[in-house]
Amino acid sequence: MKLTPEKIAEHYDWLLQTVPFRDQKMPDRNRMVFKTTKDKRKRGYFRPLSSGWVIAISEDNHRTQAEVQATVAHEMIHANIEMILPSAPHHGAWFQEMADEICEYFGFDREGF
Ligand SMILES: [Zn+2]
Repeated sequence: MKLTPEKIAEHYDWLLQTVPFRDQKMPDRNRMVFKTTKDKRKRGYFRPLSSGWVIAISEDNHRTQAEVQATVAHEMIHANIEMILPSAPHHGAWFQEMADEICEYFGFDREGF
């Protein structure tokens, strides 16, 4: 699927305004860097680099913008946790609790999230 950093940024900006994210501690928009990858195995990743906090999304692992949105939301949970407690386990209890809430709110597939 054709994906651009701008499209990823649109998802990020929209999700930031939604109920589950708007009251969360999230990184400033100008701190974020959005990238696309051609990764066939990973849908996306989050990396808090000193040069910018990266959310990268695979073009080859999504068929629709709806799927991209779910992955951006997944990576945004990592960004939220990084803001508050960087030492928290990557997909630990805190992540899982937030994932439950986000998937219920947006109707994302929890199994694949
Ligand atoms: Zn993850």
